[in-house]
Amino acid sequence: MSTTIGEVSIPVDDSGFILLQCPFCSEFFKLHPKDYEADDVIKIHCPSCGFKAHDYLTEEVLELARKKAINYTNNLIHKEIKKLERQLKSANFSFKVSKQVQHVDEYPIRYGIDNLEVIKYPCCDREAKIKSIYKMCGSYCPFCGVRYEKNR
Ligand SMILES: [Zn+2]
Ligand SMILES: [Zn+2]
Repeated sequence: MSTTIGEVSIPVDDSGFILLQCPFCSEFFKLHPKDYEADDVIKIHCPSCGFKAHDYLTEEVLELARKKAINYTNNLIHKEIKKLERQLKSANFSFKVSKQVQHVDEYPIRYGIDNLEVIKYPCCDREAKIKSIYKMCGSYCPFCGVRYEKNR
């Protein structure tokens, strides 16, 4: 049995980019959500190390998803206990659930890393935001993996 726990929404910055993090080199970069999910983009390459990861969710997004899962489960358990309480009450059995089980705070995801600069990859006609150091020293096109020695 599987249940949808609910969407973890990733906030976009002022220019409409979402923050991503490479699981290999831990560097942050940003892409437009439509490019990240585009059908013609099979796998995203990390612009810093060039590897292709399965996903680039930041630790914060994963953490938020984990907390949502905990809260969902807790609520479910609470509901079941409440149901049990009603059943027992009708059987003249005293049983009281004092309070809601502990709720884990689902804090909003940090706004993002701001020292990232827009870079345009002409090969795919798409743009990304990467650290200026990679813009200067070279980066990989996240969409096709082509190496750029420096930004033109
Ligand atoms: Zn990387
Ligand atoms: Zn490209």
